[in-house]
Amino acid sequence: MLDLYTAKLTDIRGVTEKKREELQELGLHSVGQLIEYYPFRYEDYTLRDLAEVKDGDKITVRGQLASNPQMQMYGRSKSRMLCKVIIDNFFVTAVWFNQHYLKDKLAAGAEIVLTGKWDQKRLQLTVSEAEVSGQGGSKIGTLQPVYSITGTLTQKWMRKTVKQALTQYAGLIQEVLPRSLVDKYGFMPRRAAIGMIHEPGDLEQGQQARRRMVYEELFLFQLKMQAYRAITHDRADGVAHPLNLPDVRAFVRALPFTLTESQKKVVAEILHDLQEPFCMNRLLQGDVGAGKTVVAAVALYAVVKAGYQGALMVPTEILAEQHKRSLDKLFAPYGVQVALLTGSLTDRQRRDVLGSLQMGLVDVVVGTHALIQEDVLFRQLGLVVTDEQHRFGVQQRSILRKKGMNPDVLTMTATPIPRTLAITAFGDMDVSTLRELPKGRKPIKTYAVTHDMLPRVLGFIEKAAAAGRQTYVICPLIEESEKLDVQNAIDVHVQLQQHFAPHGYVTGLLHGRMTAAEKDEVMRDFSENRVHILVSTTVIEVGVDVPNATLMIVYDAHRFGLSQLHQLRGRVGRGEHQSFCILIADPKNEVGKERMKAMTSTGDGFEIARRDLELRGPGDFFGTKQSGVPDFRLADLLKDFEIMEMARDDAADLVRDPEFWTAAAYLPLRQFLQREHIFDSDVLD
Ligand code: ADP
Ligand code: MG
Repeated sequence: MLDLYTAKLTDIRGVTEKKREELQELGLHSVGQLIEYYPFRYEDYTLRDLAEVKDGDKITVRGQLASNPQMQMYGRSKSRMLCKVIIDNFFVTAVWFNQHYLKDKLAAGAEIVLTGKWDQKRLQLTVSEAEVSGQGGSKIGTLQPVYSITGTLTQKWMRKTVKQALTQYAGLIQEVLPRSLVDKYGFMPRRAAIGMIHEPGDLEQGQQARRRMVYEELFLFQLKMQAYRAITHDRADGVAHPLNLPDVRAFVRALPFTLTESQKKVVAEILHDLQEPFCMNRLLQGDVGAGKTVVAAVALYAVVKAGYQGALMVPTEILAEQHKRSLDKLFAPYGVQVALLTGSLTDRQRRDVLGSLQMGLVDVVVGTHALIQEDVLFRQLGLVVTDEQHRFGVQQRSILRKKGMNPDVLTMTATPIPRTLAITAFGDMDVSTLRELPKGRKPIKTYAVTHDMLPRVLGFIEKAAAAGRQTYVICPLIEESEKLDVQNAIDVHVQLQQHFAPHGYVTGLLHGRMTAAEKDEVMRDFSENRVHILVSTTVIEVGVDVPNATLMIVYDAHRFGLSQLHQLRGRVGRGEHQSFCILIADPKNEVGKERMKAMTSTGDGFEIARRDLELRGPGDFFGTKQSGVPDFRLADLLKDFEIMEMARDDAADLVRDPEFWTAAAYLPLRQFLQREHIFDSDVLD
């Protein structure tokens, strides 16, 4: 069967093999892809009235030539041609550069349509295109698409070719949205929308067409998410943990603090999911310091007491060590065994841990990401918690499934995620949010200062140290160069050591080139207050928890992203003492200035995340390509946020409707899901 995506580009009249190669450079391999290669803007050939245009506008006007053209040549190919034109009762000078071949077509008295840039002061139009009446006249009054192209392709050729493709293949453009949704929003049919996006009658039509196609794009994306979610929920082959709730409650009561209302609510959500037979796939988000770890601890405890094992995956060894220590402390009275599995174990230690895991002698294993992927076998894995932004994807699930495990998954994020991105990147998950910080936290006082204030900053560190508090000093970040970062940290460490040693304060150093054992030692010294000032690269960015540290200094703060700064700031303010964050930034750096403004004006991570998204755009927000935020062809996550929400709700409703999975009307959508591997063996086997 002929379809748009198997139809070859060279089947379009006018597309030669050479042109096909150039289209391929743009990532276009089929007629379908060409048709869906949308213009990024339009050239406006609407006829304008000179009385109403502004200086510098690019305009199209109709007039009458009042003189024959005068021409000057420069060298062999450069030329300037002037002609007087009467346009809307103005006497205008039209100027052509290097288009002397037009000379013969221009004669006094001729009616002409000119497109060009308007110079109001000199009453002059620099002409880019001219059409003498009676010839073509095709573009007048239209919007012409402008495509992103390279090589020898021209806009003119692209326009012609897309148009030709649409003429030849319009019949194959099929509606993909269900009737009910097309009706609900009064969308134009797909075929019309695609035609109109390339060649709208007017801006309003172009926008309507775009809106429909944006919706379609986001709807199909959300349908994948929601279908995946529905399928995993229905499958009911997860672990229905037989929880001992009174016992879990006793564990919670014995914690060194009372849970916040938010924590209680989230714990309840998780405990509920754990008891259900489907696989939990839940995202836990909350501001820095909101207390995500203890929520994870409760969940792990509950699972262990129900007879299963738990795994906690973290991005760095430092964090793994820290979590191991805090879990040990929490679990010790209950005989819950925690083991550490990181890259720095000796072979023997590693074999021991693996053996104990397989025999079920270890209840909870804490480690870095490789924990799941390697030769690790569990006796009965019931819950995987991933801390700090590591998305637990379909792939990891399928690795576990191959080992015969189908654990519940709780993903914790380091940074609050703006809603737009949350429903995009994590649309397949249930989301729990910690909305409040534990009681008694004082807002962190944040200041942006310049480098010449360093002596005062040092004085401030000294004051903190004298009061028994500790300080982090984060060193300049050099893009893409861990080596330079490390050098920076070493330099700063030497300076501070010289400054503070005479006062009796110990300055420690932490960076990514140290061995895990070295890092661990420094971190332990810092958390036990044998090191008073810790100079570090961003390796401590996430998760580190030393409540006695109350001062965070960031050198060259303008180099850091907003969410990163907020994370760093979140290392302090974790205990009862007033905490401070001092950002040393270059006042001349414009983006930096915006970030400092945001940092000093709010401590709310959700607000920071929103501004970060605005400053950086969705692609960069997570700092990684594997974030799960796709590159949309048409949709812009910031601008099309409302459409995304509508699409999400519609997709969720649709997959809940039993008809969707059986009725013929939805077959194309089900086939789409299959093509996108939502029904692949991982899900259906
Ligand atoms: P994050 O959400 O950033 O991972 P943590 O889990 O590290 O936060 O918790 C931050 C600090 O707050 C820790 O020292 C933790 O022991 C403490 N904490 C967590 N919950 C509470 C609570 N309900 N009351 C008081 N302190 C809490
Ligand atoms: Mg944490």
